[in-house]
Amino acid sequence: MLNDEKPLNFIEEIIEEDLRKGTHDGRVLTRFPPEPNGYLHIGHAKSICLNFGLAQKYNGKTNLRFDDTNPVTEDTEYVESIKQDIQWLGYQWAEELYTSDYFETLYGYAVQLIKKGLAYVDDSSAEEIAAAKGTPTEAGKPTPYRNRSIEENLQLFEEMREGKYKDGEKVLRAKIDLANPNMHLRDPLLYRIKHAHHHRTGDQWCIYPMYDFAHGQSDSIEKITHSICTLEFIPHRALYDWLIEQLEIFPSKQYEFARLNMTYTVMSKRKLLQLVNEKHVESWDDPRMPTISGLRRRGYTPASIRNFCERIGVQKRENMIDVGLLEFCIREDLNQTAWRRMAVLDPIKLVITNYPDGQTEELIGENNPEVEGGEGSRVLPFSKELWIERDDFMEEPPKKFFRLGPGLSVRLKHAYIVECHDFVKDEKGKVTEVHCTYVPNSKSGEDTSGLKVKGTIHWVSAAHAKQAEVRLYDRLFNEENPAATEDFKSSINPDSLQIIEKAYIESDLAHAEAGKGYQFIRLGYFTLDTKSTADHLVFNRTVTLKDSWAKEVKKG
Ligand code: ATP
Ligand code: MG
Repeated sequence: MLNDEKPLNFIEEIIEEDLRKGTHDGRVLTRFPPEPNGYLHIGHAKSICLNFGLAQKYNGKTNLRFDDTNPVTEDTEYVESIKQDIQWLGYQWAEELYTSDYFETLYGYAVQLIKKGLAYVDDSSAEEIAAAKGTPTEAGKPTPYRNRSIEENLQLFEEMREGKYKDGEKVLRAKIDLANPNMHLRDPLLYRIKHAHHHRTGDQWCIYPMYDFAHGQSDSIEKITHSICTLEFIPHRALYDWLIEQLEIFPSKQYEFARLNMTYTVMSKRKLLQLVNEKHVESWDDPRMPTISGLRRRGYTPASIRNFCERIGVQKRENMIDVGLLEFCIREDLNQTAWRRMAVLDPIKLVITNYPDGQTEELIGENNPEVEGGEGSRVLPFSKELWIERDDFMEEPPKKFFRLGPGLSVRLKHAYIVECHDFVKDEKGKVTEVHCTYVPNSKSGEDTSGLKVKGTIHWVSAAHAKQAEVRLYDRLFNEENPAATEDFKSSINPDSLQIIEKAYIESDLAHAEAGKGYQFIRLGYFTLDTKSTADHLVFNRTVTLKDSWAKEVKKG
């Protein structure tokens, strides 16, 4: 069909078969159906990339449908964030729709079912209904309300809508089969009473359709061709098909794929909401959160997330993806796109004793060595006093320490070779200054010194550096599968955030662009925090340069 080197995933195979057979006149219409009760997470990104990606590949369209049938937990704040996140990921929906727009139609469908003798109003309590449902091996029993007449059901259902009854007093159930081995077909609930204000329909309704009644019918109303959801919904499929068949409406079809599970991460909005409410994190967009907004604030790019979703593919079986793969994807992206800058997180002063007092040189460093032309360059002021990283100096360096120590030489990135000859300690024995001499004819790019040094270290000029707060993030959980533990919060990593209040950054970083990735040479990839201001610069570490976690694990 289409010439793609990659093998087709099983949903693509289904679509191509449908296209061959001319099902739905060759039309492909998918939908992404979030419930606006939280922010989107990386698991939703998998569903978004799949639904929108399929539509793009097969010349189709994707609707964004807010599945807003739970008035209590839903909010317009979530609606707005969901729209922002989808667009940021690079996708545009054909239509923005709301299940609540279909409430009247859905009500009409329910009336149709009642008229066909396929639905009834049940006065039993939730407990009574559950008890009468039986078990997978034992048939359920009818409640005393199952054989109400059509007329009585019609009247009671109308009264439910009119608000005559309290929450829980009555429900509408489909009349299917109390002995069916599939529990979802044992007279499932279609409507419940909920006297609650809805973020869109206000107080217009006090009965709300259940997921199973709203979802497939909404797909059908929109003429969705391929309704893709996660594996938990396999047992719901029979009901999905039954309702469409009985109502004789557009035959949308449901297909299921494995949800994304990722190590060291929880992926349910309910749990993420708990983390926010109980202040384990700052907000939904805390850079440690697996939310799209958290990843964005952390410095992930849309391309890296799309690439991650592409790599993990689409499976029919539950699995667990190593979070290291997500980190790999952003590293790979930023290695190509991030501009290189210098910053010193744990500063110690380096004094070049043979460099003229008060002199400043303007050295040049290219922005991005990964692309031809370097994407331009920036000026690096160089002077007698610099900040270097404390761990780039050792008083008594072991062999193979290719950094600074008495008698050792290194190259200062984009600058000169320096040799250490002395250092100063305070009364507590802490080194406060490292004294070096520089080799004047060893300047990077025009080095005629003939000297060879093994190490290169980063630095910033003390007189020109700016200050910034730098936030280093680690995994939010210590357990590989926190959701599998009794209380997922017991495995929260207490050291998931380290704040460096005073780092020194090269002056050019004062003009860092929001949303852009920077490699702080030798330290990792960083981005400006959304709350950074000109007076108080804040950078977030997106990811380290190498996978320090894998190394830790090996060490044990
Ligand atoms: P959560 O359990 O986090 O609340 P949900 O499935 O209830 O998720 P919805 O807003 O109903 O959240 O999901 C919208 C769409 O995203 C659904 O089609 C759902 O199947 C899909 N989705 C949700 N979580 C994942 C996941 N981890 N992997 C893949 N798709 C997901
Ligand atoms: Mg849901």
